[in-house]
Amino acid sequence: MHPELQALVRLQSIDDQVTELQAELKKIPSLVEAENAYLRDFEDALQTAEAALEAMQKRQRETEGEIQMTEEKLREIRGKQALVKTNEEYRALTNEIEAGQTKIGGLEERVLECMEGLDPLKNEFAEARKGLEEAKNKVKMSVEKIKDAQARLNHELEKCQRERETAWGEVSADWQSRYSTIRKGRGGTAVVPIIERTCQGCRMSETIQRFFEIRDSKDEISSCSNCGRIIYYKEVEVEIPVSPVDDPD
Ligand SMILES: [Zn+2]
Repeated sequence: MHPELQALVRLQSIDDQVTELQAELKKIPSLVEAENAYLRDFEDALQTAEAALEAMQKRQRETEGEIQMTEEKLREIRGKQALVKTNEEYRALTNEIEAGQTKIGGLEERVLECMEGLDPLKNEFAEARKGLEEAKNKVKMSVEKIKDAQARLNHELEKCQRERETAWGEVSADWQSRYSTIRKGRGGTAVVPIIERTCQGCRMSETIQRFFEIRDSKDEISSCSNCGRIIYYKEVEVEIPVSPVDDPD
């Protein structure tokens, strides 16, 4: 093969690799973000569990405070009752005391409900905290793996870029510029093999005569007559003989 064509073929292969590596690298931030989103779900679950637990504890504290206040009030009323002069007043205070006691009964019931409610909430909180710890470890390992992959990809990319410089230097300025122009205009592919007369870039077939010219040319670089891509002959693994029926001449 023409040495410059060889360099062009290598250039294309390197550029394909670069494109692939860049596409892989571009996925990295979203992969890390997916890990963080996974972690946030566990953080949210812990926050929800903590809020529910705290709300129940607060309700218990407030109810207990209310019981204390009511008891305090009852003591005051009992003190007053000892000093009243009329039966009417005495009865009124007795009613107040009874009402207070009923209220305390209800509040004590509420405290018990809170205490019963706290156990499952504490369990849920502990579970959520454990879940978050596990998720943190899992995410830490995953992110490390992603970062390792990123470092590997960057390393590969640098290697490709060095190889590209070498290949680029082996191509004349004229072909450098043609390569760049075709690559830009043809979706990143400037150099393609021709297999069984078919350009692997545009899938159009060359005439037998043109195919032989491309195949046998030692001192010239050929282009596809349809898409203009640089083409080079590539043998197929199983050689299929060209039947005379395919020959238009
Ligand atoms: Zn073509």
